[in-house]
Amino acid sequence: MNPEFSAPTVDATDLDATDADATDATPDATIVVPLVGASVTELTDWIQTQGQPAYRGKQLHQWIYERGIQSLAEVTVFPKAWRETVTNVNIGRSRIALRSPSRDGTVKFLLEMVDGQIIEAVGIPAYKTGSNKLDRLTVCVSSQVGCPMACDFCATGKGGFKRNLERHEIVDQILTVQADFQERVSNVVFMGMGEPLLNVENVAEAVRSMNQDIGIGQRSMTISTVGIPGQIRRLADRHLQSTLAVSLHASNQEVREQLIPSATKYPLEALLDECRDYVNITGRRVTFEYIVLAGMNDHTQHAHELAHLLKGFQSHVNLIPYNPISEVDYQRPNDRQLQVFMSTLKAKNVAVSVRRSRGLDANAACGQLRANQLEQLATPA
Ligand code: SAH
Repeated sequence: MNPEFSAPTVDATDLDATDADATDATPDATIVVPLVGASVTELTDWIQTQGQPAYRGKQLHQWIYERGIQSLAEVTVFPKAWRETVTNVNIGRSRIALRSPSRDGTVKFLLEMVDGQIIEAVGIPAYKTGSNKLDRLTVCVSSQVGCPMACDFCATGKGGFKRNLERHEIVDQILTVQADFQERVSNVVFMGMGEPLLNVENVAEAVRSMNQDIGIGQRSMTISTVGIPGQIRRLADRHLQSTLAVSLHASNQEVREQLIPSATKYPLEALLDECRDYVNITGRRVTFEYIVLAGMNDHTQHAHELAHLLKGFQSHVNLIPYNPISEVDYQRPNDRQLQVFMSTLKAKNVAVSVRRSRGLDANAACGQLRANQLEQLATPA
């Protein structure tokens, strides 16, 4: 259970909820009662602390997850007199600070949290071939504000780290995209801002809620990590059915250390050992992400090395052509070299596919939109 949620009450004398502005002592100051992400049981407990009958917990659950309410004032089946006592409660919803649609249907959002911090979430629709009927709606969610990992090719990494996201702030991203598209979200990837395995508790709680409260299959969720010693095993012990994606990005320790500062404290062999344990404990195969940087990690020799590294491993390699974050760093690989790299892996029986970037014109590379916006905000006109 999320500690912040423990029986929050909006009685001004006893608040477990967070005060959005502690210096503001006016009775109308917004307080956060993180009802988003809460289970039926938690909501039922809470509504009773409000002097309401238990059955209203189930109603509240429906209004939060199916109707996507922004505030308790909208729950018109609840007594008006009670709703008037909770007008200063934020149930854990963010505000859309910017909505940036792309020609391919992808929509990137900048979301403002109650404390003013900004994160990214991306809605990625996939349509049935030859029709405008939606096949899948994937949300790329953030798990932290910023990221402490500082990977060299990543826009989020360049911007530094602020804090972990709470359970409700992760689940809110799904509700926001769902409301904007007026469609149910079918898939979730933790590939937005942040390193999910530095925030395991909230991520696992959010996965539970997205599964049980929103109805997204656990197998349709992917947690992407650059690898934090001990944490992959910790995640495996939770027996989630979600897919683990590991940002490998290199076929040897030397190249990996050039791209990922934290790799110096986590040898490739130790990382792969933990991945093997993950497969053994959960029975799920691991996806390895490999960002392809021209002239850096895309030589045919690297493909041979990678195939050797993953020999006999129940896995899938996802090649991600680099999405430039500035003109002065790495280069995108050309299609021919990418094909050679891929066929070299295939010839060695490595399951491999290429991930095509969606929403490039919406600044879809990790952390890009936020980086651009923050830059503009900081630069006087
Ligand atoms: N910290 C986690 C999740 C966030 S990054 C992780 O490292 O896996 C999610 C994916 O986006 C990673 O595979 C990452 O390498 C990729 N990515 C980051 N910057 C990118 C860029 N400029 N171009 C293409 N992919 C990028």
